[in-house]
Amino acid sequence: MKVGIIGGGPGGAVTAATLVRLGHEAHIYESEVFPRFHIGESLLPCNMPIYEDLGISREAFRQQSYQPKTAAHFEHVASGRTVRFPFADGLAGDPASIFQVERSRFDKLLLDTAIANGAILHCPATVASVDLERLAIVHDRGADAYDFIVDASGRETLLGRQLGIVDRDGDLMRAAVFGHIADLPLAPGAEIGDISIAKADEGWCWQIPLEPRKWSIGLVLKRERVIKGGTPADVFRNNLAFFPQVRERLGGQVPDPTRSIPNISYRVRERIGPGYALLGDAGGFIDPIFSSGVLLATRAGWRLGRALHAGGPRMDLGAWKAETDHDLSTFVAFIKLWYDGHFVDNLFFAERRDPPIYQGIISLLAGNTTHPDNAFLALLKKRMARQNARTVGTSDVRRPTSDVKQPTTDIGQ
Ligand SMILES: Cc1cc2nc3c(=O)[nH]c(=O)nc-3n(C[C@H](O)[C@H](O)[C@H](O)COP(=O)(O)OP(=O)(O)OC[C@H]3O[C@@H](n4cnc5c(N)ncnc54)[C@H](O)[C@@H]3O)c2cc1C
Repeated sequence: MKVGIIGGGPGGAVTAATLVRLGHEAHIYESEVFPRFHIGESLLPCNMPIYEDLGISREAFRQQSYQPKTAAHFEHVASGRTVRFPFADGLAGDPASIFQVERSRFDKLLLDTAIANGAILHCPATVASVDLERLAIVHDRGADAYDFIVDASGRETLLGRQLGIVDRDGDLMRAAVFGHIADLPLAPGAEIGDISIAKADEGWCWQIPLEPRKWSIGLVLKRERVIKGGTPADVFRNNLAFFPQVRERLGGQVPDPTRSIPNISYRVRERIGPGYALLGDAGGFIDPIFSSGVLLATRAGWRLGRALHAGGPRMDLGAWKAETDHDLSTFVAFIKLWYDGHFVDNLFFAERRDPPIYQGIISLLAGNTTHPDNAFLALLKKRMARQNARTVGTSDVRRPTSDVKQPTTDIGQ
């Protein structure tokens, strides 16, 4: 089978590596020469078994000096409460750690792995469109026909835009400003290697240690604040006022360059068609609060490669789509809770913990959306079912912030 893949980011590279290791031909079209900057630097532990399956061991990560990540830490700006979720405290079978990665180097590692296994890279090659009649990738050097085409073009959403199926209904109306800085003292309660997230009413701020003297920092804010706030550096500097603890730790540092993304999330209405599939960011993008993006792209690519190997290019990809939908909708439900003050007070930053719920949150933070013993996931599913029954849209869910700090198994409406 000969598969053409648009984009050499994690989604495209993992799809290609999986296919070639199973004996197929994979061609990747990538417009940028790697290494290139990309945002999305905190991986989830459930990425690890997939990378290991493709021959990228923990040792390979260590050899490239990536920062081990063993927990996610959160800081509630208004109350000063903090919570640390060590992955080792999660549910049986979940991986207990992963790495923080500077994406320029990491994406090259994944792409090199695909090439080393036999994938063919066309680069720089910019894809202009997909000829769906001929099943051909049309690019700046010609057009090549394939048995199957994968759109892994990321936020470019090449095929989604061509088909007119990208929409922003349900967009949480948020934007991001971000970059790298040299030094940052640890947040209270955080340990070396943790991703730390500060939550304010106006948005949230990530802090990710990448290597000695290099941190990734970014603010996710209501879109208006970013669009109308001046240069990305101005937006960053001015909106730090919502995160006084982080501002204090930063001691005046502003990323140089500071970058911005004005529209974070969007949905793609259909991710499969005859002879093609859309995956990773090309298949939709959700708020990055729980660092799910690379995992969703990686897992979808790995599963797609195996499904095509088993069923051939004309197979019914309904089961693949259902698994991908489940991953996405589970994280969407989790993200909506994050923007729900009731959940944040009662469960996330709870002073007394309900152990099964606490473990379940950790399992989901590690990226496991199907653990059979996850009590938190069971509650989340009930909430999703209630919402589906009421056909509530995907707009922001807001409830008044409660002062209740007791553990509870109620996760809101
Ligand atoms: C603010 C922010 C913070 C984030 N934080 C995290 C995080 O902490 N952890 C996490 O896991 N995820 C995070 N993400 C998400 C993460 O960046 C993406 O989900 C991930 O990169 C998706 O991988 P992908 O392979 O689908 O797309 P990409 O990584 O974007 O790769 C797509 C590739 O396609 C190429 N391409 C595009 N168009 C064409 C074309 N026409 N022709 C040829 N090539 C093309 C591009 O050059 C690119 O290399 C974050 C995202 C944002 C916006």
